Parts: sequence; structure tokens; C-alpha cells
Amino acid sequence: MSTGLCRGCGADIIWAWTEAGQRMPLDPARYPREDTTANVAVRTDHTGRIWARVISKDRPLAPFEHRGMPHFASCPARPRKPRDELAARRRRNRPGGSR
Ligand SMILES: [Zn+2]
Repeated sequence: MSTGLCRGCGADIIWAWTEAGQRMPLDPARYPREDTTANVAVRTDHTGRIWARVISKDRPLAPFEHRGMPHFASCPARPRKPRDELAARRRRNRPGGSR
């Protein structure tokens, strides 16, 4: 099935496929069409497979799509700034660093 539970916070999630062939966890809720914080367009094809893509200016929400929220954007168990942490780790590990 394409539904599951988040390993971090236990919330219900839906597994969608991206156009890059990766799986993306989504919140099950459908968001209002004008809610731009939910930046993913979701559709279900005739086989029941769920697809998700990021909405852009070039490719706005289509009539057959609805707005969804990637679960990693709303998950309370996820650290808030993973990128900053990664950057800090890289700085620390750099050979011949500031020391
Ligand atoms: Zn979660």
C-alpha cells in the first residue's frame, strides 16, 4: 500500500513518487488550492500510484492535481535545520582547518 506511519513521529503518511523516481512521504491532508505553504502537487494515476511534484511558476497546480505537504516539512520529530548542522560538521572535518 502507499500509506504508512512516519518512523519519526508516528503520524499517518502517504508515500508518493516523484518524477525523479524517488519516494516522498506526504501528509494525508489535502490543502486548499490557494495555500502556497503546501508546495507539492499531488495526483493519482489510473493504476492508483500517487505522484508528487513541487509546484513552480512554470508548472502551476493543474486541475487534476491537489495541494499536498511533504511530511518532512511538517514532521515534529525532524530536526529543524539539518542543512546548518551538515555545514557545521563539514567545517569541523575539513583537513587543515582553523586550528
Ligand atoms: Zn513524522
